[in-house]
Amino acid sequence: MNKVAVFSSKRYDRKIADEHIQSSQIEFTFFESALSEETVHLAEGYDAICIFVNDEANESVLATLHSFGISIIALRCAGYNNVDIKIAEKLGFTICRVPEYSPEAVAEHTVGLMLTLSRKFHKAYNRVREGNFALDGLMGFNLYQKTVGIIGTGNIGIATLKIMNGFGCRILCSDPVQNPEAIKLGATYVNLDTLFKEADIISLHCPLLPQTQHIIDKDAISKMKKGVMIINTSRGGLIDTKAVTKGLKKGQIGYLGLDVYELESGLFFEDLSEEIIQDDIFQRLTAFSNVMVTGHQGFFTVEALNTIASTTLNNLNALLNNEPLNPEFLIGGQ
Ligand code: NAD
Repeated sequence: MNKVAVFSSKRYDRKIADEHIQSSQIEFTFFESALSEETVHLAEGYDAICIFVNDEANESVLATLHSFGISIIALRCAGYNNVDIKIAEKLGFTICRVPEYSPEAVAEHTVGLMLTLSRKFHKAYNRVREGNFALDGLMGFNLYQKTVGIIGTGNIGIATLKIMNGFGCRILCSDPVQNPEAIKLGATYVNLDTLFKEADIISLHCPLLPQTQHIIDKDAISKMKKGVMIINTSRGGLIDTKAVTKGLKKGQIGYLGLDVYELESGLFFEDLSEEIIQDDIFQRLTAFSNVMVTGHQGFFTVEALNTIASTTLNNLNALLNNEPLNPEFLIGGQ
């Protein structure tokens, strides 16, 4: 029986996995630890590993896995910026992922962040619990007829676009590859500078690549409308957090909604409620009343987790049994 080491596994992962792996020919071991140089030794003796967004498959980790005779990595997510793909290819790894599990889950979370900020639900929730029904400070704004700039019109970008269309927004898009569906839905592709200049709300849905690292930096922020809302449910590294903090202090950025953060590894997915959080940049960010942060939970719906579990299991079954796998599930289409 093939053996797979699952890293960064939480109770909810095991619960969903249990429902899918009952009849599987694979033996899974669930480790709570994230994959890193310190924990990679746990993979010794396994045939494959299964990892998530904050597991670190860098050059040294990949070399150690290779020395254990492991050549299969199953990502149970879509993004793969945490894997050194060049080294992985050089060492002959086959890497599979779940390219699409529920774009709607992330899109709905994105819009949830927009509405929380535009209607100040986070403040209202606390006030009403304390018996304070005054409306001062809760005035919001309509999404109707606002201009929304969507950066990255893949699966999640399009799902977000559809919802924002329903609100009656004007949609501008930026993506090196134009998606005909966006145009059919009435959106307009513009260059990034025009999007920055005209959008009331900017929502990030592109992958984290060298070209997109800090796509929202000081220069970009200076081109935006004063009081702009920025939403990032994609990857933390798309935003230069220090520049955004300055933009918030000056009022140039009016609202910030984050589900991801560039230094989230070690913070997100952990219960640190009894600890002193050492990341001052993150603490400053969450102190703003016009900032809403969630801990990478955009994907976290029952529908998405079931798709992640079934696709990952299919991917592993195929690869471990040397059966063909549709290239869309393979990174680099190996
Ligand atoms: P996708 O591959 O379907 O779409 C990504 C789009 O970004 C593509 O259309 C691509 O052409 C575009 N793109 C590439 N470079 C660009 C650039 N420089 N500027 C603008 N657009 C560019 O991916 P998806 O499924 O829509 O996911 C988008 C991102 O969402 C993923 O990369 C992942 O990091 C993130 N994500 C987050 C969560 C969460 O829980 N918060 C869950 C799933 C995915």
